[in-house]
Amino acid sequence: MPKSDINKAGWEQSEFPILCETCLGDNAFVRMSKQEFGRSCGTCARPFTVFRWNPGTGMRFKTTVICQTCAKIKNVCQTCLLDLEYGLPTQVRDTALGVESEAPTSEINREYYAQNMESKLDGAKSLLDVNSRQASAGKEMLKQLARTDPYYKRNRPHLCSFFAKGECKRGDECPYRHELPVQNELSKQNIQDRYHGRNDPVAKKILNINATNMGLQPPEDQSITSLFLSSLSPSSTEQSIRTRVLKSLPSVQPSQLKSVVHVAKTRCAFVNWKDRASAETAAQAWANGLEIDGEMINVRWGRSKGASGVKPAQASGSSSISVTAS
Ligand SMILES: [Zn+2]
Ligand SMILES: [Zn+2]
Ligand SMILES: [Zn+2]
Repeated sequence: MPKSDINKAGWEQSEFPILCETCLGDNAFVRMSKQEFGRSCGTCARPFTVFRWNPGTGMRFKTTVICQTCAKIKNVCQTCLLDLEYGLPTQVRDTALGVESEAPTSEINREYYAQNMESKLDGAKSLLDVNSRQASAGKEMLKQLARTDPYYKRNRPHLCSFFAKGECKRGDECPYRHELPVQNELSKQNIQDRYHGRNDPVAKKILNINATNMGLQPPEDQSITSLFLSSLSPSSTEQSIRTRVLKSLPSVQPSQLKSVVHVAKTRCAFVNWKDRASAETAAQAWANGLEIDGEMINVRWGRSKGASGVKPAQASGSSSISVTAS
C-alpha cells in the first residue's frame, strides 16, 4: 500500500484506496477516478481523497467513504468498513478479541485524534496490531466466522425504490435492482456505529448465531444474568478471574459485574451480572472459550437466580451446581 501524505491542514491525500477484495471487484483492470479532498471522512470529518470505480459488470459504482487514517486505525476497508482480515463488522472482531475502540467518538476530538494518529501508525499495520494481546479463543472464533472469499453480490446495484412502490417505468433500462426490499438490519445501519463497533445490528446477529452454535443460546428466562465457568486453572483466584473477565469485555462497564463466586474445590466460578445485556455480551465474547490463567475454560449459562447465589460451602461437588447444557 502506498503511504499517504498529510498536508499541513491535516487533509489527507492518497494514491490508492485501502479496500477489501469484495469492494475492489473481480475486474483485474479496474479504473478508478480520484478526487482530492472530494468529501469529508464519514468518521473523522477531515477532507480526504475520494476514489470511485466500477467493481464489475452489472455492479454499482463504489466509492470510498472514510479516510485512510481512519481505515488504518481500525484495519477496515475504506468503502464497506468491514475488517480487512476477516471481512467481519468491527463489533464482531473487537468483541472476539476483547479490544476497545480507542478512537474518540465526540465531534470535537475526532479530527484532532485522526491527525495525530498518523505518526503512531507509522510502521504498524493498524492500531489493532499494536494493541491486541494474544487472544487465541477470539481468533479461533473470527476464523470460524470469517468471510475470506470475495462476496461480489454485495456490489450489486441498490434496490429500485420506485419499483418497490410499483412506480418504476424504466423497465430493463433501470440501473437499479427490481426486487422487493427485505426489511433487514442493514437498512438501519450508520457509518459511525459500524466504524466504532457499537449498536451494530448485523454484528449482533452474527455474534448471536455464533453463541447459539457454540451452545450458549441466551436462556428464555430473562432473569438469568449469570455465566458458569468450569475447568478453571488450580491457580485461579476470585481476583484473577475477575480481572480477566473485565479485561476481556472492554465494552461492558465494570460496575455491571455484580460478583464472581469462585468454587476453588471444583475449579468453577459463577460470573454474575447486574443486567442481562452484559451477560449476553459476555456469552457472545466467550462463545469459543476464554483463557484464564493459562487455561482454556468452559463457559455455560447459569440456570436460575438461585444458582447464581450458590456459596462455595454449599457446592461440595460439581454435581451440586446446576447448569444449563443448552
Ligand atoms: Zn477519517
Ligand atoms: Zn470493502
Ligand atoms: Zn427501477
